[in-house]
Amino acid sequence: MLSVVVDQPNSMAVLERPMPEPGPGEVRVRVRFAGICGSDLHIFHGMNPFVLYPRIIGHEFVGRIGAVGEGVSPSRIGETVVVDPVISCGQCHACRIGRQNVCSRLQVIGVHRDGGFSQFVCAPEKNAYVIPAGLALPSASVIEPFAVAANVTHRTGVLPSDIALIYGAGPVGLNLLQVLKKVYGIKAYITDHFDERLALARSIGAAEDETINTLREPLPEALARRGVAGGPTLIYDAVCHPSILEEAVRIAAPAGRIGVLGFSNTPSAIPQQELTKKELTLYASRLNCAMFPTVIDWIARGLVDPGQIITHQVDFRDVRGAFDIAERNPRESCKVLLDFGLDS
Ligand code: MN
Repeated sequence: MLSVVVDQPNSMAVLERPMPEPGPGEVRVRVRFAGICGSDLHIFHGMNPFVLYPRIIGHEFVGRIGAVGEGVSPSRIGETVVVDPVISCGQCHACRIGRQNVCSRLQVIGVHRDGGFSQFVCAPEKNAYVIPAGLALPSASVIEPFAVAANVTHRTGVLPSDIALIYGAGPVGLNLLQVLKKVYGIKAYITDHFDERLALARSIGAAEDETINTLREPLPEALARRGVAGGPTLIYDAVCHPSILEEAVRIAAPAGRIGVLGFSNTPSAIPQQELTKKELTLYASRLNCAMFPTVIDWIARGLVDPGQIITHQVDFRDVRGAFDIAERNPRESCKVLLDFGLDS
């Protein structure tokens, strides 16, 4: 089989690899489409502390089950599935209280073990979810980043009276927008530096006044002009620069909640006074905690379409070109997919 292998930082190639055999409890998936995530770019550039090289990367993918390991019903062969990349031990404190996405022995497909930028990949059968009938395969391939947005909204909760602010109209910010508008129906402002991304936000359901280009309109003034003088009650940082959390804490309304998704190890300077004075709550959110069924249910009910962020589909043999688009062209690209084609 052919796989996208990152040998070492900044070295990536499409290589012939041995066909993996599904172990006990596992299925083998023939991958059809896979999404490129910012974290794949980080692994490529050697900026992910968890990864061991060489690694077949990729954790957002859809495909068809072609083989099953011991203990898995052969009736699963032929299912079209998306795979939750979170593999947990089931024994540690986090697992026992239902927080398996922060398992102390967490294994993430495409990070700690080989992933979905490959013609074939093995995964635990319980991680493989049948996609909703009628859902296009490209849309299905990006259920994982949608589950990331679903997870942070699940962490913070969403109240009908919330006024939300999303920092960043990238894939996760736009998915958050879709959840807040389409599932919860609340007012949600979204920021970016690129008008193209804000146009995408409007096509996904943001009203004209809900998009803010913070290069042109400084945020506090922009919010005041829109009548949000008291500050947003619910804030999500999908930019993940350390300065954003500092600003979010400053502008949040009393009793506000802030969803934190970043992985920067640069400290943010947050005065305790701001937190305590307003009794703010920070909700960190990593990957997703069993949110695939929720997202699949939202899709099946016609509420959301994870495919709305897809801008490009590139043959996987040109993975370098696809990474270039994702990395160097944020005005024209949002989610870039690798196309692994059909069996010949
Ligand atoms: Mn991702």
